[in-house]
Amino acid sequence: MHRVYKDPTTEVTEEHRGNIGVTRVLIATSNSGKLRDFAGAAETLGVEVVPIPGFASLPLVVEDGLTFEANARKKAEAYGLHVAGEVVLADDSGLEVDALGGAPGVHSARYAAEAPHLAGVNCDDAANNTRLLRELKNVAPEKRTARFVCVIAAARDGQTLEVFRGQAEGIVLDGPRGANGFGYDPLFYFPEIQKTFAELSAEEKSRYSHRGAAFRKFLEWAGRG
Ligand code: IMP
Repeated sequence: MHRVYKDPTTEVTEEHRGNIGVTRVLIATSNSGKLRDFAGAAETLGVEVVPIPGFASLPLVVEDGLTFEANARKKAEAYGLHVAGEVVLADDSGLEVDALGGAPGVHSARYAAEAPHLAGVNCDDAANNTRLLRELKNVAPEKRTARFVCVIAAARDGQTLEVFRGQAEGIVLDGPRGANGFGYDPLFYFPEIQKTFAELSAEEKSRYSHRGAAFRKFLEWAGRG
């Protein structure tokens, strides 16, 4: 049987599986929230998820791509050069709000900045959330639909092997709820289980989130799913 991933950007059939036999995956991030999401999804499959050793001291890769995929590839390829022969994953992710024409999108990490389209230093989560609430102040609840998107690129020795996309559909609330997670989690209400992402346990976050969905596609492609 040929299993085809539903997402058009990730048409991976059985024949196209990487079957790279990984037991350890290096992640190009120092974001503890992202690491927790990845580890949660990998746990039961015997795959260890660790940050690239010395990640914080590597030269920063500027995220100036126009799409999640472009940024994920750029990070995976550049950071992967520092760990020869290893499979490195990088994700680029963000929140797309329909009433804002898909913003903050690829600029999610810098939304509170005066010029969020200029790649540079990220803003803190509270400032980004404040801006999001301000932008949506006069938008009715039924029009506050949004999705988290995550694109993961897997690379080895500076070459992208494959990309994987995951999404989670929800609604932006008019105030925060919950104390877990990071980023826009407290404002992102997930109707399927009637909780915000900040009200989820680590296990639930990896089960329902965009990052968990993309990572499971990677694990399946890698022959671990
Ligand atoms: P980047 O992927 O490092 O460019 O950053 C993505 C930004 O999008 C983060 O700084 C958060 O603001 C937001 N974001 C991405 N994924 C999540 C998530 O799972 N929860 C909450 N916010 C997220």
